Amino acid sequence: ERLVSGESFDNEEIVEKSLRPQRLSQYIGQDKVKRELTIYIEAAKQRQEALDHVLLYGPPGLGKTTLAMVISNELDVNIRTTSGPAIERPGDLVAILNELEGGDVLFIDEIHRLPRIAEEMLYSAMEDFYVDIMIGQGPTAHPVHFPLPPFTLVGATTRAGMLSAPLRDRFGIISHMEYYTDADLKEIVLRSADIFKTEILDTGAFEIARRSRGTPRIANRLLKRVRDFAQVEGNGVVTTEIADKALDLLQVDHEGLDYVDQKILRTMIEMYQGGPVGLGTLAVNISEETETVEDMYEPYLIQKGFIQRTQRGRIATPMAYEHLGYPRPDAEGRLF
Ligand code: ADP
Repeated sequence: ERLVSGESFDNEEIVEKSLRPQRLSQYIGQDKVKRELTIYIEAAKQRQEALDHVLLYGPPGLGKTTLAMVISNELDVNIRTTSGPAIERPGDLVAILNELEGGDVLFIDEIHRLPRIAEEMLYSAMEDFYVDIMIGQGPTAHPVHFPLPPFTLVGATTRAGMLSAPLRDRFGIISHMEYYTDADLKEIVLRSADIFKTEILDTGAFEIARRSRGTPRIANRLLKRVRDFAQVEGNGVVTTEIADKALDLLQVDHEGLDYVDQKILRTMIEMYQGGPVGLGTLAVNISEETETVEDMYEPYLIQKGFIQRTQRGRIATPMAYEHLGYPRPDAEGRLF
């Protein structure tokens, strides 16, 4: 498993649960999303209506699941949680819808992976709060109209573009989750350290923050590793030096790149004169699927300004050369 991946590891669930903020006031960063939601939640409560359906999209580990739970807490309603891949048959969805009480939140993670028939069932559920279910088989099959209480669907997806238009159009609130700033991540690290009862200096927290790829899940994961290192190699306090040493050892560099990120950039620079080079070619060089490079590696490298996308392929920027200690290339991308 990749240390700097935004996806959760199998064994992380319990720790993550303990770190989840419960209220909007404890939810750090994402100010624009929070500001909007605060108003919509307040308005829905005043009208005693269910909140409009909410679509949260953004890379893994940015706090979509957490925010869904925070929304249900703020609305003071129950939350039911499932995911697109967990719903195999329409019956699975009906079973969950059947459990909803008025105003409840239904959270569907990875909603873009819902099977087609389940998705179509959601249309009427979201718009008019009913589903039509076919009962029986063959000539005796007949539809049964099944009313639902008003509820709020919170859907999460990594890319809004992966959702079909009819589904996307049924969300009244669409919120784009951004990568966190280093300052916000630092606050998250300090808060988590407090929950772990780990002593940490502001500067130590910042060192972890700036190497966490704008992602709370990664920040918390790195904090856990650094904490162990502080305990064994230091006096338990997370300082800048301890954080720096531990993260070097874990091969997470100062910009949060791991060796695969570095290999991508090195390949571009050493084998392709900085590009342009196709994504598929890069993928082959690091023995990964093209989609994996596109979804897991490239976005952060682009956001950090190390890679640029052009019509003819990807190019490594002067910043990439500098970061990896190469001399600046000439106009043709050749190294001196
Ligand atoms: P996602 O659903 O987007 O993959 P999660 O909601 O599971 O992400 O968040 C991953 C971890 O990061 C959780 O342990 C959560 O506590 C923490 N986290 C995410 N966002 C925040 C935040 N804004 N403030 C504090 N902790 C956060």
